Amino acid sequence: MDAISYQRAADIGTALQAASQPGTMFIGGGTNLLDLMKGGVMRPMKLVDITHIAALDGISTLPDSGLRIGALVRNSDAANHTWVRERYPLLSQALLAGASAQLRNMATVGGNLMQRTRCSYFYDPGFPQCNKRTPGSGCAALDGHNRMHAILGASRQCIATNPSDMNVALAALDAVVRVTGPNGERAIPFAEFHRLPGERPDLDTTLQPGELITSVDLPPPLFAGHSKYLKVRDRASYAFALVSVAAALQMDGNTIRQARIALGGVAHKPWRANAAEQALAGKPLDPATLQAAAALAVQGAQPQRDNAFKVTLAQRAIVRAVQQAGGVA
Ligand code: SF4
Repeated sequence: MDAISYQRAADIGTALQAASQPGTMFIGGGTNLLDLMKGGVMRPMKLVDITHIAALDGISTLPDSGLRIGALVRNSDAANHTWVRERYPLLSQALLAGASAQLRNMATVGGNLMQRTRCSYFYDPGFPQCNKRTPGSGCAALDGHNRMHAILGASRQCIATNPSDMNVALAALDAVVRVTGPNGERAIPFAEFHRLPGERPDLDTTLQPGELITSVDLPPPLFAGHSKYLKVRDRASYAFALVSVAAALQMDGNTIRQARIALGGVAHKPWRANAAEQALAGKPLDPATLQAAAALAVQGAQPQRDNAFKVTLAQRAIVRAVQQAGGVA
């Protein structure tokens, strides 16, 4: 058993000071980190408990009519908050599609952003080959069981996927992650928060050492009337996505004025389907248009031995999600 030290921080300044010590990690709900520690996958020397920092909690409106969700807000509280349900139903649906009720009651929004991949080789130190766990060791999934793995944006270093449902909705909504750290505060556009693996699959995000997530900001709600989070998985509850789609539309009658599409279960980060979005803008919501856009979304896909089905599944899920967002299915 590894010895670790524990400190409960009462405010952000104390938390940042405590995190200046190498080997320190922040802990909120702990639903992912504690599992990883018990399995010997992550071995922090010190935990800084941030759950008593009032400034990180709560949901408030922003001057531009957007919404600020504190990093400590529990997933279930965010999903069921009136403002989230009414103005950002896409986010509420995605949150409720994740994990189980017990986990959602414990897990925080900030922790969900930091959730690590569910690649089984990453979780099992009995497999020495995992570049994400041990940089330079190789990737057991390349020649192993890779049914759940990425078809887009992967590298030879890592083919893992981001497991979060919430992150897919936040990508479609163009959320902003607010952080504070040794060099002050900064706002990170959601598309820049998570990383593709490249040569450094051990880095999941662009957070700098010692930085603390303070909130997630949502821009003004443009898509409340036409959005859908569709998750395709092996069983109806408590399962990670094979493929998921966050679709959000602005409609003029049967014409799509603007579309946002993000995919989960297909890449190391939530995957924005920009080409598909452009192909839908100004077009009627009909099957031929949707199928053509869906094909663009998976252009360049490089499936592994066990997951070629995801290429077709992703296209069908996009068509279904956009139809449902538009109210025609
Ligand atoms: Fe590790 Fe990534 Fe390979 Fe999984 S896919 S074994 S997380 S390097």
